[in-house]
Amino acid sequence: MKAEIFAIGTELLMGELSDTNAAWIASRLPALGIELQWVSIIGDSLEQLTDAFTRGLERSDLIITTGGLGPTQDDLTREGIAQALGETPVVQDEVVRELERYFQQRGQEMPSRNIKQAHLIPSAQFLPNPNGTAPGWWVERDHRFIVSMPGPPVEMHYIWEHEVEPRLRQLVENEVTVTRNIKTMGLSEAAVDEVMDGFFGHDNPYLGIYSKADGIHLRIIARARDVAAARQLITPVEAAIMDRLAPYIWGYDNETPEQAVGQLLQERGLTLATMESCTGGFLANSITEVPAYTRYYQGGIVANGRDMLLAHGVAAETLEQHGVVSQETATAMARAVRQSLQADVGIGLSGVPGPEELEGKPMGLAYVAIATATEVVERELRVPPRRITIKRRVSNTALIELRK
Ligand code: ATP
Ligand code: MG
Repeated sequence: MKAEIFAIGTELLMGELSDTNAAWIASRLPALGIELQWVSIIGDSLEQLTDAFTRGLERSDLIITTGGLGPTQDDLTREGIAQALGETPVVQDEVVRELERYFQQRGQEMPSRNIKQAHLIPSAQFLPNPNGTAPGWWVERDHRFIVSMPGPPVEMHYIWEHEVEPRLRQLVENEVTVTRNIKTMGLSEAAVDEVMDGFFGHDNPYLGIYSKADGIHLRIIARARDVAAARQLITPVEAAIMDRLAPYIWGYDNETPEQAVGQLLQERGLTLATMESCTGGFLANSITEVPAYTRYYQGGIVANGRDMLLAHGVAAETLEQHGVVSQETATAMARAVRQSLQADVGIGLSGVPGPEELEGKPMGLAYVAIATATEVVERELRVPPRRITIKRRVSNTALIELRK
């Protein structure tokens, strides 16, 4: 939780009074796990106060203020909060009666100006102040908080210890963090960043972008008092991601490419067979990471070199015309294994594992093909020349393209 403090009063700005309240409050925040980001001194001006509250609510979860809660016309903290939130203060009769009692006990009549202290906006609650006439305000809106206390240190300390700290402790303890991970493939990190421009740089919900072996991930992190409230913060950002990136999204949260594919094949009642060369069985290994793989995975062949590809059903002309590493060969592999293992879907992977070139083609060049009875999806890839990266990236691409 990120906080800021406002010390309010023109006397403070004029140098007539030194602010000690902010430091006193600041020293109590670390123990609560609250991170203080700003301390401001603001004069008794409605315009400056409204502006400060408006900006503070944009950049902090919590604003703590002292001063400006008295009965006089230059005490404008309440008015500043009301303006910033666009709410109208309404007089609370029971608080008027309490104030009247307070003055009665001291043998005085309540000045009519004090009625101002009995006003409340809908988002606020009173913080009782037995040491003075100005009750504090506890304001909550959209999981942002404003705590306003009177300026005199004795009053402020009492309210802090008896009212504010217990509530803050509960807030911090009850805060939950909810994360939503959305996984894409097919766009670069820079392209995803550009598409989602305007959504980054916010604190809550926070949107992060990460480049992984299975594509570009977007992570939304929201903090709120409960899971439902956190989800509410996530929903609009997630909707924007879905809207802008739908064709590239293949999975969510902890889902792996092999799980996403397993899910899809089971839903549609389809079976899968694979033939791979440069990945050496990595694809078959990934698929069999999913416990239910026997329900949809017929099996796979690791076929190295021309003779093995011929033996497993790739036509000699294809190999002669296009070479062992080519889109045509990958597609022929997908079709051949689909037929020989009697599956609905076949995947073919062919590439240059390195370190040497193959057929004049560089390490990391690879081809993916996914074949059904009626359709073929083909992809050319250039993966950084590192053996494990090639295996992982080529296998993942095949699975994700199948999922998409
Ligand atoms: P009151 O009802 O007493 O007027 P208030 O909330 O309006 O309360 P101010 O009028 O701003 O508070 O300040 C009242 C007195 O509190 C000041 O004269 C000063 O003695 C003390 N005070 C206010 N702000 C601070 C501060 N930041 N640091 C230390 N003392 C302060
Ligand atoms: Mg005052």
